[in-house]
Amino acid sequence: MSLGSVPLKYKVSIDREQCMHCMRCIDNCSYGVFHREDDRIIIDSRKCTACHHCISMCPRDAITLKERPVDYRSHPLWTAEAREDIINQARSGKIILSGMGNAKPYPVIFDRLVLDACQVTNPSIDPLREPMELRTYLGKKPSRLEINKKDNGDVELLTKLTPNLKLDTPIMIGHMSYGAISLNAQLSLAKAVEKTGTFMGTGEGGLHEAIYPYQKNMIVQVASGRFGVDINYLERGAAIEIKIGQGAKPGIGGHLPGEKVCQDVSCTRMIPLGSDAISPAPHHDIYSIEDLAQLVRSLKEATEWKKPVFVKIAAVHNAAAIAAGIARSSADAVVIDGFRGGSGATPKVFRDNVGIPIEAAVASVDQKLKDQGIRNKISVIASGGIRNSADIAKSIALGADAVYIGTGALIAMGCRVCGQCYRGMCPWGIATQRPDLVERLDPEVESEHVANLIRSWTLELSELMGAAGINSIESLRSNRSRLRGYMLDEGTLDVLQVKPVGA
Ligand code: SF4
Ligand code: SF4
Repeated sequence: MSLGSVPLKYKVSIDREQCMHCMRCIDNCSYGVFHREDDRIIIDSRKCTACHHCISMCPRDAITLKERPVDYRSHPLWTAEAREDIINQARSGKIILSGMGNAKPYPVIFDRLVLDACQVTNPSIDPLREPMELRTYLGKKPSRLEINKKDNGDVELLTKLTPNLKLDTPIMIGHMSYGAISLNAQLSLAKAVEKTGTFMGTGEGGLHEAIYPYQKNMIVQVASGRFGVDINYLERGAAIEIKIGQGAKPGIGGHLPGEKVCQDVSCTRMIPLGSDAISPAPHHDIYSIEDLAQLVRSLKEATEWKKPVFVKIAAVHNAAAIAAGIARSSADAVVIDGFRGGSGATPKVFRDNVGIPIEAAVASVDQKLKDQGIRNKISVIASGGIRNSADIAKSIALGADAVYIGTGALIAMGCRVCGQCYRGMCPWGIATQRPDLVERLDPEVESEHVANLIRSWTLELSELMGAAGINSIESLRSNRSRLRGYMLDEGTLDVLQVKPVGA
């Protein structure tokens, strides 16, 4: 007996009065929702992913999409999702894959933290009239500076400074590899970070030649698969990042299906055409902090100690202890990727159930580093689920030096968070290698959208700081006295080291 079909997720309809039969919806939908029979457009709603490309391109606003028009009998435990996952797995016997970040309705800690503002006794600062310092330096800072005062009054710095990355804004774009996203998408991001004086990550997909002109704004990643890694790649990056884990899938590796490994991706990753790119779960040469320290030093040695080396870990229960180990490993920054971090493809069970939120992870990492007196030895970068400038301000107040954004930058290029990235048919030309879809994304236009997002969030960040009477990002960092928890339990407040509202 058949398991039968499950109810529709989305119901697509066309207002036939409005429709002008331009047929753009047929051309635009890469999932094949629309097709033509004689003069009529036939709709197969079952194929719809809610990517909204047809709706955005319809010149007559004739298309309507409704979520889940038919549902199951409601049940608090056996939700529609739980039932459908079982039905799908009963059919396939496979792991359920998904894209994007954690989709469970866990409370968002950012939404239960509020920022402070000055009133009467302490003046606020108007960022339009007074200078605000948002420049951020990532890397080790000396505990003290030794100087030599010369007879002529000149001052000579004796302390040897380690290389830092200089950012005009504390907002960077996280690692999304060529392969997971298209070259046009990566090019758009690269142009955007160049325009805004910040940096982006290559992901573990190597560095395509088209990105070479932006290499001074690139952080090159070394992950467990070592794809695309050679001395040329390391030397091109402004900094190097070792990826140990990722927030969307802590503890497991990655898998780029062979279908996505086209000629260009295969050259950039240095792997055979059409072969699956499988990154192992651990680095096979790292089983301890000492092993990690050795890789950090090897990468520094290879690049003559001229480049900062970052280490990225997924936010897990003992993230603080691991970060303290990383701080002692010669690394210059630790990236903590919270459980809402995005991914092109991840097992759904990991995405939704493994890891911890970035808010708690950053606060505990910052506190541990301070308790051990090593906070200046390393910068902290927060990533995973940062949705707006308030999340950035709160991340920095909790202890981050800077943040990585990922999904936000993709949304600025058109992404509708449909979560189908792993299928390689993204109609917005982002998570795909299909040439006809990739060419839909114009790097000149989309780089401006992403740059605008970074600029507007930077402006809002300076307004939030000004309202709190803070004129430099340094003074906001780890300044938890300017945060209050609203409807957060005592245990969480304790981890965040934040007082409740009214206290
Ligand atoms: S894109 Fe809009 S107007 Fe054109 S055929 Fe489709 S529904 Fe009709
Ligand atoms: S990148 Fe494309 S496929 Fe992935 S969630 Fe966004 S719109 Fe969907």
